[in-house]
Amino acid sequence: MLESNSVKVEDKLYQNRYRVDEGKPHVCIQPHTVPSEVLQKLVKLCPAGCYAKADDGTVEVTPDGCLECGTCRVLTAETGDLDWNYPRGGYGIQFKFG
Ligand code: SF4
Repeated sequence: MLESNSVKVEDKLYQNRYRVDEGKPHVCIQPHTVPSEVLQKLVKLCPAGCYAKADDGTVEVTPDGCLECGTCRVLTAETGDLDWNYPRGGYGIQFKFG
């Protein structure tokens, strides 16, 4: 029988640190009443779980914990759903390697 040495993604992500830039989110969703198809997909696609469906049916983003993977940036490049910038220096994800 093989021993399992698998490590969960959540465990690895937990080792990273995130410095929040209070009041200056680096990802913002354009105001909307009905979320685009892409925004709805991001609720499931964002690896950090930054997107969530609100009670009023819109999609919200909380970029704390964002991995800066660029998935949402690429997917919305032509839809204009997002205002996406890298965090200011010293803020955002601080990866722990190893
Ligand atoms: S860049 Fe990646 S981790 Fe950050 S909000 Fe977009 S999809 Fe999520």
